[in-house]
Amino acid sequence: MKIMVAIKRVVDYAVKIRVKPDKSGVETKNVKMSMNPFCEIALEEALRIKESGFASEVVAVSVGPTQFSETLRTGLAMGADRAIHVEAPENIYPLTIAKILKALVDVEKPGLLLLGKQAIDNDQNQTGQMVAGLLKWPQGTFASKVVLDKEKQVATVDREVDGGIETLCLGLPAVITTDLRLNQPRYATLPNIMKAKSKPIKKFTLKDLNVEIKSNFDVVEVTEPPKRKSGVILSSVDELVDKLKNEARVI
Ligand code: AMP
Repeated sequence: MKIMVAIKRVVDYAVKIRVKPDKSGVETKNVKMSMNPFCEIALEEALRIKESGFASEVVAVSVGPTQFSETLRTGLAMGADRAIHVEAPENIYPLTIAKILKALVDVEKPGLLLLGKQAIDNDQNQTGQMVAGLLKWPQGTFASKVVLDKEKQVATVDREVDGGIETLCLGLPAVITTDLRLNQPRYATLPNIMKAKSKPIKKFTLKDLNVEIKSNFDVVEVTEPPKRKSGVILSSVDELVDKLKNEARVI
């Protein structure tokens, strides 16, 4: 079985986000970019499934401008066998990404498609669900545990839901999106970084995949959250109660 993993390049989680002066979005120029953390977890899970003997190949795919292939190179250094880069503008919305992923699934025919539960840049949390809908495949979202059964060709997925864990059994092929506690992604070792340089990254255009970028909504404005007022140190519990009652009016 082949596993396809969708990987997005995003502003590194440790970077302080700055909004562009024209408020059209988040500044990505001269900013450290990395693999979306949930995509790292998805790739790690794919590699573990391959190492357990269930899968024969892990293909990392990404949709975006030229620099996205650098992030794919990181995925190859972590252990993906090959990669596919679909050249496209930045900030495409989930439905179009889902259509592109579906087109790649039609070409590659994987038995499992793994995605992050959300991209930390836009927090859409939609792509996995949409691509499962387009493919008409079962989906296990927010996975915190994945167990595959080779004989029955099913995946048992624990999902982190409000107030507990839901366990689903999905017939393969299926779509799984990964939550934080699924695993701890590995670091790429130096020899693997060197090896990754010779692994193939196949290029596709949107035209090759017959997908058009269409969006029926526009982002009106992106603004920073209001600055928090600095805190004060109080001298007694009475003073705290007084402020909660008379200033914050919460008690
Ligand atoms: P989102 O729905 O935007 O929060 O993204 C959820 C997941 O979809 C990500 O963790 C990726 O696995 C995948 N994804 C989103 N955008 C892209 C992209 N441009 N290229 C590849 N995968 C993507």
